[in-house]
Amino acid sequence: MPRPIRAVVDPAAISANIIKIKQLLKGVAVMPVVKANAYGHGLGRVFPGFQNADALAILEIEGAAMLRASGWTKPIVLLEGCFDDADLNRAIELQCDWVVHNIDQLHDLEKLASKPLGYKPRIYLKLNTGMNRLGFQPTDGAAAIAWLDQFATRNAWSSPVLMTHFANADEAEPRDRRPLAEAQHQQLTQLKPAHWQSSLANSAGILNFPELAGDIVRPGIAIYGASPGPHTAASYGLKPAMTLSSEIIAIQSVKKGERVGYGSRWQATEDGRIGVVACGYADGYPRHAPDGTPVWIEGRIASVAGRVSMDMMTIDLSNIPEAKVGSTVELWGDNVPVDLVADHCGTIGYELLCAIAPRVPFHTVVQP
Ligand SMILES: *Cc1c(COP(=O)(O)O)cnc(C)c1O
Repeated sequence: MPRPIRAVVDPAAISANIIKIKQLLKGVAVMPVVKANAYGHGLGRVFPGFQNADALAILEIEGAAMLRASGWTKPIVLLEGCFDDADLNRAIELQCDWVVHNIDQLHDLEKLASKPLGYKPRIYLKLNTGMNRLGFQPTDGAAAIAWLDQFATRNAWSSPVLMTHFANADEAEPRDRRPLAEAQHQQLTQLKPAHWQSSLANSAGILNFPELAGDIVRPGIAIYGASPGPHTAASYGLKPAMTLSSEIIAIQSVKKGERVGYGSRWQATEDGRIGVVACGYADGYPRHAPDGTPVWIEGRIASVAGRVSMDMMTIDLSNIPEAKVGSTVELWGDNVPVDLVADHCGTIGYELLCAIAPRVPFHTVVQP
């Protein structure tokens, strides 16, 4: 038997999460974000889960090529735009739409004027409404919008989309997040020509301010069944698309006062049992997981006990007498939300999902 660690991904969970978002925001186009190899799930693996989406958003041109090769005929939007001429040509070959977030990218469009492209590209013009990452300042927005509107009309391209990104939609305290999101929404609405569509919301925007989401939404993490915060994914009705699990490969009896693992970080307060799990930081499990980080075994929560090492981690089995060598240990999934593990580790579920190491075998749940 190979080493027992595995990541199992379920395209049906993705499909259900898309339907959930469609129910929440009736009449809005849902454009899941599949960058970073579908948030670490494997784009090819989970692709069948995206059939109900209206468009897909990605950064990596190779991913766009893979989507087209898999038969995706609906729009693909490149979220950071095109990086150079070769990239632009490839985007057109693949019939992509793309974001324009600065003046150089805008003027690059001129190279395509009156060329026969075989389709009508839709440009997503990005406004910087306070995130201060990508986009036109609102003060420069009106001129860019006017230029693009004329360009699109003159070349018979699709009507553009005015886009921005919420900075604080995931903050725990509604008092802090709502005014900024409303201000961002208002800046966009003031500039948007009536015949353009709008796109504002990532997962946090969708779940926390559905009324400010605009015409096309860009859910990433929610589609994979994790939460952007502040509430749990389950409370939003989302189902995890990935389960990371392994097995107990050894059990040690420890006496009160004995210590476990590198640096002897964990110390037994009673006589008890330690389970050794075949999963370590070289599999993508965070090394900085503190004692108390939850795992699921034999229908119950157990806790990390001692420092995570490269290939193994140790858990406290003192209250789980049924646990034995070969017991399955869920590191995250349906029973232990990845967000909860991330909370313990001072990060977010996104980072954990994206960081599964190449040596972990993936399996896909096949639909009956
Ligand atoms: C990654 C990304 C998203 C998705 O964000 P989530 O928080 O995962 O929903 C949306 N919009 C843009 C521009 C992105 O880069």
